Amino acid sequence: MRGIPVMAKLSVDDIELEGKRAIVRVDFNVPLDEAGNVRDDTRIQAALPTVKTILDRGGKAVLMSHLGRPKGTVVEKMRLAPVAERLGQLLKRRVIMAPDCVGEEVEGMVSEMRQGEVLLLENLRFHPEETTNDDTFSQQLARLGDVYINDAFGTCHRAHASVVGVTRYFEERAAGYLVLKELAFLGEALADPKRPFVAVFGGAKVSDKIGVMHNLIKKVDGILVGGGMAFTFLKAQGVEIGTSIVEEDKIEVAQTIMMVAESSGVQVLLPLDCVIAQEVEERAETQVVKFNEIPSGWKGLDIGPSTASLFKKALLSAKTVLWNGPMGVFEREPFAAGTETVARTLAKVTQEGCVTVVGGGDTVAALRVFELKDRMSHVSTGGGAALEFLEGKELPGIAALTERS
Ligand code: AMP
Repeated sequence: MRGIPVMAKLSVDDIELEGKRAIVRVDFNVPLDEAGNVRDDTRIQAALPTVKTILDRGGKAVLMSHLGRPKGTVVEKMRLAPVAERLGQLLKRRVIMAPDCVGEEVEGMVSEMRQGEVLLLENLRFHPEETTNDDTFSQQLARLGDVYINDAFGTCHRAHASVVGVTRYFEERAAGYLVLKELAFLGEALADPKRPFVAVFGGAKVSDKIGVMHNLIKKVDGILVGGGMAFTFLKAQGVEIGTSIVEEDKIEVAQTIMMVAESSGVQVLLPLDCVIAQEVEERAETQVVKFNEIPSGWKGLDIGPSTASLFKKALLSAKTVLWNGPMGVFEREPFAAGTETVARTLAKVTQEGCVTVVGGGDTVAALRVFELKDRMSHVSTGGGAALEFLEGKELPGIAALTERS
């Protein structure tokens, strides 16, 4: 894996905040319920350490985020007021809600802020200029801060105004704690891993993870493939897979990955058996069959018990594990066991000193179902950004931060 000089970036700890207006790109893209209340405040909680340090050190926090995809116009349902309210509850102080994210009125409100105050700008994506990385819009945002902090790792792969354009107008562009943690685990821990280093891939699609597999293949000691994507790999070896999910146009890539792995001496473990059903249903009739005995009309929906044992054994001896993608349709009880085995095994090895890094929305959702989210070394918040980073790509939002001298 190509190493990225991540710790070379200026951190929020390196900059003077006393009396300063710190404009912070946060990721408050949270789910709202029917009534418009915050349904899950994980992302708001995740930004608290950075916000608190600004306030504790005598700064003023001007926060900016997007929510949903309003596509450049004001969408009432996507206003950030419910987020401001929840943030206020968590911080136990008032959060000033701005009516917009740029403009004279907002500039006036920011200029009246006192030390220790927090202001949340309205949804950045109400303006089309945010996603086009417009220079005038970036300048308008820049007028609202003295120093710039990025704590929204999940948007760092996007060259948007609040992530890239705005940074041109700041001498000090620092990483917040959340971004620093992502860089420490996705960057350092995986660039120089304790060995054995095992990667576990699953989920429905190969296409999302191909780039990461390519980049990691020469770095890891072993790869475990489960979930729907395993069937593309099995089909690539000429195995009959019934009606299991498959990406026909990725069969060749799967073959290439197997070949590169073999020539690099990296073991790729595919399922030995699977749990099959005719339909993805809670009460579906299921069977456990060998990987090459799936009858026509049946689909593989979880790794089988022999595979789960094999994967468990491989993980028990690992010292670094990267996991992305569930082993089966864990959302349905009959197909959740494989994912649960991996999750429980990782919780155990983490306790014993293994570095476990988990990414991907569905994988994190699975950890939540099994109540194991807090038992991993690091759960990445940045789905697409994390994948691009692990592919070895430079993220524009990270590249834009000041180098640490
Ligand atoms: P991804 O976004 O590619 O990580 O895919 C996550 C989704 O893959 C989850 O919602 C799982 O239900 C689904 N999944 C996992 N294994 C299978 C499988 N064998 N067949 C179909 N879907 C699967």
